Order: sequence, then C-alpha cells, then structure tokens
Amino acid sequence: MIKISHLVKNYGNFTAVDDISFEVAKGEVLGFLGPNGAGKSTTMNMLTGYLSSTSGSIKIGGVDVLDDPLNAKRLIGYLPEQPPLYPDMTVEEYLSFAYDLKNCKLNKEKHLREICEVVKITDVYHRMLKNLSKGYKQRVGIAQALVGNPPVIIFDEPTIGLDPKQIIEIRNLIRTLGKEHTVILSTHILQEVQAVCDRIVIINKGKIVANELTENISRAVENTRRFNVKISGPQRDVLALLRNLPGICYAEVLAARDGDAYTYMIESEVGIDIRKKLFWALAERKWPLIGLEALGMSIEDIFIAVVDKTAPEAAAAKAKKKTRYEGVRAAEEKELASDIVEKTVKDQENASFEEESTDSAYYEDHSIKEDTFASEGEKNEDRKED
Ligand code: ADP
Ligand code: MG
Repeated sequence: MIKISHLVKNYGNFTAVDDISFEVAKGEVLGFLGPNGAGKSTTMNMLTGYLSSTSGSIKIGGVDVLDDPLNAKRLIGYLPEQPPLYPDMTVEEYLSFAYDLKNCKLNKEKHLREICEVVKITDVYHRMLKNLSKGYKQRVGIAQALVGNPPVIIFDEPTIGLDPKQIIEIRNLIRTLGKEHTVILSTHILQEVQAVCDRIVIINKGKIVANELTENISRAVENTRRFNVKISGPQRDVLALLRNLPGICYAEVLAARDGDAYTYMIESEVGIDIRKKLFWALAERKWPLIGLEALGMSIEDIFIAVVDKTAPEAAAAKAKKKTRYEGVRAAEEKELASDIVEKTVKDQENASFEEESTDSAYYEDHSIKEDTFASEGEKNEDRKED
C-alpha cells in the first residue's frame, strides 16, 4: 500500500533522512520509532506531500506522491505533530471545513456524526476548539484525518502530551482504525508500538536500523529461562538445592534480603520450563516460594541496544556492567540488536529502485475529489528551494 524507496531529505548540508526504504502492506499498522531528531516527522511530512524529498520515491497505493500529489493525497488522512486546529471554530465547524476542503462526497451530516462516534467527541460537537482539553483536541485532530474515509492514516506522535488514561483511549482508537485502514504511527513510546503495531521500523540519525514484525521482536524478547526467585529458607541449603536441581544450569544469591527470605537468580537449561518443578522441590522441603519473576528483555532494551549499535560512541560511554547476569543480558541484547541491524542494513542496500506503473485502483472509488494541501505548483517551488 505504501512503498518508500531510497528516500533522502537534506536540509542544507544536513541529511535528516538518509536513503531509507520500506513498505507497508494494506491493512498493516506500522510503528515508526526513533529517538527525538531521528527523522520521523521529516519522513511523514514527505509521505503526506507536505514536504518535498531531495531524492527517492514514495508511492501510495501505486500513486507517486511527487508525480501525482493530488491523487496520492486523496488516499491519506494525516495528523501532523502539531494538529492544525483553528481555536475559534467549533468542532462541528472545523470538521465541516475539513469536509469541504477535501471535497468529500459522502453524506455530510451522517459521515461527520459517524466519525465523532468513533473518536468519541460527540459530546463536545458544539464546543469551541480553544475550550477543549488537550486529549479532546488530539481526538478532533484524528477526526479531521478520518474525514473522507481515506484508506491510509498517518499519525505523528498521536499520544504525546496526553495523560495515561487518554493515551490508552487513543491507543484503543488506533487499534480499531487498524482493522479497516493502513496506519503509520510515529512514537517514541515503546509500549505503544508493542500494543498496537504489526510491524516496527526503527529510524536513527536518518537511517533505518530495524524493520521487524512485532511478534518476531516479542518472541526474541520473551525469555522464560531466567528468573528471580524469592525463597524463605536457610540461604546455603536453598542455594545448594537450586544448584543441584536438574534443569537449572546456574544459580546465585542476589543481595536483597527480606526477613528470612533471599532472592536468587536462576537460569534453566534451554527448552526447560523450570517453574513447576521448582515449586514442588521447595514445597517438599517446606521452604515457601515468596516470589517468581521472569527476567525477559523488554522492548526498551532492544530499542536501546539497536540505537546503541548504530551510535557506538554513545554505547561506549555507558556504565560498566556489574553482575554476571547483567553482563549475560547485555551480551544477549547486543547479539539480538546486531542480528536486527545487519539484516535491516542489507535490506536497505538491496531495496529496489523499480518504477512501477501507476495503479489507479485505490483512488478511483474514492470520494474525495480535491486536494487539501499544496498545489503541484507550490510543490515545485518547494523543490527548487532545496
Ligand atoms: P523526529 O520527528 O524524529 O524527532 P525530525 O524529522 O523532526 O525528527 O527532525 C530530524 C532532524 O532534522 C533533526 O535533527 C532536526 O533538527 C532536523 N530538521 C527538521 N526540520 C528542519 C528544518 N526545517 N531545517 C533544518 N533542520 C531540520
Ligand atoms: Mg517529530
């Protein structure tokens, strides 16, 4: 549905987006991740035709954003980082304005009412935008993107500045939209992508450093081999039991002590789920099991490892690892990060420059007939400046 190939954006001598390529399949929800300044907004502004590219191509449903911006934009609903809201308009006036701009042909009242139901702003329909809370303003911005029912929806940091409850609401909304639309969502909140995205693309310093299905990352991150276990009982005897229990290949006592209970870090052999066996072994000796915590890697760990991998000077400056466990874990994260980055770098290099013929199927049955944004003339002006 979306195909970006060898996209570059220079601001003067500075390359904000450096030869990136990726695709988004129809119906996919893609999480576009990266630290601040990585190039997310720049990429999204090029995708939506707000900003021209220095080189490379972007196709939406087969339509080239540069060659045929009007038809490409008809396929896109966009919520920029700063939603373009007019404070003195009511929600109704604003959405009606967006409807007219997009020259939408759907039944106006019904369409706008439906959108308001979906994004839950019906109760503020007649309120002025300047009087709405940040969460409601954000939802009005999302509503504006949905006017005309475009097949592709692009959100730049949709939950930034919202409170935790609002974040969950917007997240649920995006998940709902993902059922019917192709969605690209930029964020630096990692749980967000894990919660709603099918695929994760990580950009750092203008380059794509990871492009993976979320389930692949989650699987790699999942780890049921290492646990912190808190056991009430004589420390030496407990440790001896743990070290001798078949299926456990490593055990150590951690410093934390709580009454007569100590915390131990254990590691089981590959392919063995040690939990039940451990429980019964302890029960037999009447040493109560107080706690059991799996020590998987979090998606944060992977993200940081991937970003560090592509910014070695920052990684080198990091604090030294203390325990064996932290060392093992860091090595594992590094290995996983290396796999992800190496594969991605190869994919980026091998991305094709192919020129497809324009596939008009997507916009022909679409109801928006006029463009909302810059005209082709303006676009060419913009190109000359670069
Ligand atoms: P992100 O959205 O990932 O935080 P941006 O795409 O906004 O990052 O910015 C990428 C880089 O490009 C940053 O270093 C930013 O300072 C720079 N940049 C963005 N817009 C401009 C501009 N108009 N002129 C010069 N540099 C810019
Ligand atoms: Mg940004």
